[in-house]
Amino acid sequence: MALTPLSEALEKILSTVSARPEAETVGLSAALKRFVATQVHSSQTVPPADNSAMDGYAVRSEDVPGVLPISQRIPAGHPPSALTPGTAARIFTGAVVPEGADAVILQEDAQQIEDTVQLPEAVTGQHIRRRGDDIQLGDRLVAQGQCLQPQDIGLLASVGIADVSVFRPLTVAILTTGDELREPGSGDLAPGQIYNSNRVSLAALIEALGMIPVDLGNVVDEPEMIGAALERAAVSADCIVTAGGVSVGEEDHVRGQIEARGTLTLWKLAIKPGKPLAFGEVMGTPIFGLPGNPVSAWVTFALVAKPFLIKRQGGVVSPEPRFPVRSGFSVARPGSREEFVRIRLIGCGEAMRATLTGSQSSGVLTSLSQADGFAVIPAGTTVSEGDWLEVISMAALGQPGAGAISR
Ligand code: AMP
Ligand code: MG
Repeated sequence: MALTPLSEALEKILSTVSARPEAETVGLSAALKRFVATQVHSSQTVPPADNSAMDGYAVRSEDVPGVLPISQRIPAGHPPSALTPGTAARIFTGAVVPEGADAVILQEDAQQIEDTVQLPEAVTGQHIRRRGDDIQLGDRLVAQGQCLQPQDIGLLASVGIADVSVFRPLTVAILTTGDELREPGSGDLAPGQIYNSNRVSLAALIEALGMIPVDLGNVVDEPEMIGAALERAAVSADCIVTAGGVSVGEEDHVRGQIEARGTLTLWKLAIKPGKPLAFGEVMGTPIFGLPGNPVSAWVTFALVAKPFLIKRQGGVVSPEPRFPVRSGFSVARPGSREEFVRIRLIGCGEAMRATLTGSQSSGVLTSLSQADGFAVIPAGTTVSEGDWLEVISMAALGQPGAGAISR
């Protein structure tokens, strides 16, 4: 079977998405990681009035330098009266600048002598935050399809908005397969067993996208059991993600069981780690059959399933930002697949280097856990120390982040 470039598989997979979930209105406290259904414009101007950026004295710049009487005291939240010409107003950060004043002088630069203050010269506008500096009436605050982050929620609150229209979160069923798998916490391993790590890491990846994992547990390598579990998954979630059992071995039954209940395309993706990937539908529910090796499962989820899920969720998909970093390692033999290499960033600025976190085997989770990101090495290329690499951060790959929306 020929290798399929990642971009080709992605394009096909994304083209199958037409529906999006229905919208619902939620309070800001429940809006984290939700995808915006209706864009929001501001009905407010922020800040609503010129205000002081510092603790100090509000003056008319033409009255300084000099010694001025202090005519009023303006704490934040207390409206001022107009400034009497030839006087200074004691003012605090966030307090409204009185009419007539055009500058604020830092308290550190002033010397208060009883009811007067000695002030240096000032230029018009200094230390004043102007009305509307941040947000003008009608400005767009969040776009449709944007995944709300803590700062976005703060922005909405800053114009007095208390709730927002978002898409209902997708439910994603997770099914792992394998006779050898044992659940963490269920006791010691018998010979031949390993602990099931994909089940929890896939659930966590789904939660990081703001979606709801539906944990259907592990299924042994029996065709009927896998078939029955797939049917349960199809009726209990919007999408299905399985791990393991999609290769072409005699014990790999997931593929056949999907085909018996729907449709499936199996790709050998031209990426490393993560070669085999199945995509299709079971009784109309989209399904990803990820490879069982834990790093392959993580990487194929992040590179292929995540964009699909974000689009299906009503989000906007755009490629993860890649930034240049010099290599701290070498690759002597060119690979036949585009390789996503687990790296750590050492040093800063010009001296920054991407170093390998350890074994790049597709079953080794320690080097994934220790990684700051991935260096993308194109097929057919070698790498020497000091060469420029393209790096994707771990956060950009594992979460929707700013990559979920093109602004
Ligand atoms: P498979 O794709 O089922 O052939 O599995 C490939 C490799 O990944 C085998 O070494 C499996 O033991 C391992 N593996 C499969 N599923 C899991 C899982 N859920 N957790 C940890 N390792 C797994
Ligand atoms: Mg297996």
